[in-house]
Amino acid sequence: MLHDGVAVLSLDRPPINNLSFELRTHLLQALDAANADPAVEAIVLHGNDKVFSGGADINEFGSDLATRSPSLPELIRAVENSRKPVVAALGDLCLGGGLELALGCHYRVFSASARIGLPEVTLGLLPGAGGTQLLPRAIGLDAALNLILSGRQQAAADFRDTALVDELATEDLRAAAVDFARRLSADMVPWPRLRDRPLRVEVEDELYIHFVRDRLKGQKGQGPAPLAALEAVAAAGRLPVDEGLEEEGRLFAGLHAGPQSRALCHAFLAERAAGKIPGIDDSTPTIPVERVGVVGAGTMGTGIAIVFLNAGFEVALLESGEQALERGLAVVREHFAGLLAKKRLDQAQCDALLGKLSGSLDYAALGDVQLAVEAVFEDLEVKRQVLRRLDEALPDGAILASNTSTLDLNLLAEATSRPESVVGLHFFSPAQVMRLLEVVRGRRTADSVMATAMRLGKRLQKVSVASGVCDGFIGNRMLNEYLRVAGLLLDAGALPWQIDRALETWGMAMGPFRMCDMAGNDIGWAIRKRQRAADPGLRFSATADLLCEQGRFGQKTGKGWYRYEAGRRGGTPDPEVERLIDAYRTRAGLLPRTIGDREIVERCIYALVNEGARLLEEGIALRASDVDVVYLAGYGFPRLRGGPMHYAEEQGLANVVRRMREFACEEGGDARFWTPAPLLVRLAEHDLGFGRAGELQ
Ligand code: NAD
Repeated sequence: MLHDGVAVLSLDRPPINNLSFELRTHLLQALDAANADPAVEAIVLHGNDKVFSGGADINEFGSDLATRSPSLPELIRAVENSRKPVVAALGDLCLGGGLELALGCHYRVFSASARIGLPEVTLGLLPGAGGTQLLPRAIGLDAALNLILSGRQQAAADFRDTALVDELATEDLRAAAVDFARRLSADMVPWPRLRDRPLRVEVEDELYIHFVRDRLKGQKGQGPAPLAALEAVAAAGRLPVDEGLEEEGRLFAGLHAGPQSRALCHAFLAERAAGKIPGIDDSTPTIPVERVGVVGAGTMGTGIAIVFLNAGFEVALLESGEQALERGLAVVREHFAGLLAKKRLDQAQCDALLGKLSGSLDYAALGDVQLAVEAVFEDLEVKRQVLRRLDEALPDGAILASNTSTLDLNLLAEATSRPESVVGLHFFSPAQVMRLLEVVRGRRTADSVMATAMRLGKRLQKVSVASGVCDGFIGNRMLNEYLRVAGLLLDAGALPWQIDRALETWGMAMGPFRMCDMAGNDIGWAIRKRQRAADPGLRFSATADLLCEQGRFGQKTGKGWYRYEAGRRGGTPDPEVERLIDAYRTRAGLLPRTIGDREIVERCIYALVNEGARLLEEGIALRASDVDVVYLAGYGFPRLRGGPMHYAEEQGLANVVRRMREFACEEGGDARFWTPAPLLVRLAEHDLGFGRAGELQ
């Protein structure tokens, strides 16, 4: 579109103008056409007021589209070399490749509320289209390094005194950019290019780079991206721009070819995909929720109340006894008082939040809520009773949610007259900290209730994953198998601290035994009793039960798999536990063998993979990437490995199946468990990944 000699080229690829192959091609064609048109004197690149561009299209990363000509660096080169000046009009969001494109323009007009960022390191990459070379030339080396290494967004206005920002537009961005372009005149040629700006590197900059390099080298679990990004920025200070760009390209290619960036990009896309449920879309009606009830003010109920308050909801907390109610309300109040003391809230905010909290012993207090979550004792009859009372008290159309971890949601729903309004909202402990929310769909749960619950999850800033009904849903059902295999490793010859260390070194946030000590070993004890009753053929190590019989419930009793001493963080290995395991092996006639860390990891992680595949087969999980999201967001699985299912694909499903079969065949092994899930076998036979399971006949 031409405005008085200024051609406005619009990026128009909703929602965030990702720089796909198609968009790059159209932009380059439009740029060439504008340069060829004698009526055009200047060019403005514009998205819309909200978004300039969110950057590269991550969906292209697995294919050759990401690099197909015109690649992003080629497009940026063309912009830099444009004979006519190019002004970028930068709306609120300008990230990654979008910012790099802007850095290639001759001038930049930002909206006053614009935010910039280079999030590539969070995807295991570095800005590979000139960002590491041009941003330091615009804002200085240390500021650029901080932005690139943190991956965080920052207000463009913070850089108003640098070469990054030519103008901040307070009103109509596009009009301001066109006006800016109109003021340019031929006697200003050559048009300024950031690549031509000298980058002065002071001694302090060099010291800073040394300091950050040392710090990064000492950090574990980061993957190679931050250090590579640092080296690219350091190259900007050392090399002429073209050589620096070459170095950036070389470092980018190394990261792009590595497993960590594949895992991080997978995790990113998996989280986005998790919100989607077949048959439910933006046109599915949802139920407006502003006021909620929480029944049961124990560990989970108080955490859930905090989560809802934080997201701006009014919360009515309901208990069965005065004391429990007062205790619960005090927990919530103390939580916010703690934030006030740490200055993370001010008094007015704290008052406003607590003003939305009320407590009651009477279901009548829930007469005007649109949703109630019960978090009472994990007992079928208690919960059915509570749901019946909620059914009577809540208005028509309101949602009845249960936070049950193990009970059959369908049986709970049947206790009410509105099973279509019953859904599981499985929060994790502590609810105000853990990101994961399993949204459990019962047999009769309505689409609108699922849609509302998933949307609610977003508003609560949770990562929501839909799960069908089964014992443990997605996460805990897999966890049970993982813990079962960890227990059987004790029988075979390993010790708890060896197993924990092996898995923690591999990247798990916490090994299985330390995790059980934290959660309370009595919880697993109760689960095993129930599972054994339901399926007497299930093999468990007896060691965990023996531990519980001695009252070693974990951190809360000072002793569990480890010994906990006052004043010392974390547990220490306990010779008593070693003796308990030894004695048990002797009684049971088990001959301990030496087990390597690699085998420990294989068995524990493949246990997750096999159960994950079964969940997929049964339709409990909608997609393999949902299983990954559950493990990444809820169970401390290392993001650099992308989740158990992604990790299995990286190993090659045929290799995973072969290994499982070896475990299944060994003498005294658990052949039933290690028989690979049929889905895994068929995918491996057809050389397909989980994402292509639909192609199997
Ligand atoms: P909790 O024992 O700490 O709290 C339960 C609360 O419910 C108590 O305060 C009790 O007074 C109250 N209560 C019991 N019967 C009631 C009734 N009829 N009406 C009103 N209040 C009643 O238990 P918790 O750990 O908070 O667990 C609650 C639920 O959350 C369970 O279903 C559990 O499976 C689930 N859950 C727990 C965790 C966890 O790690 N603790 C994690 C996820 C889900």
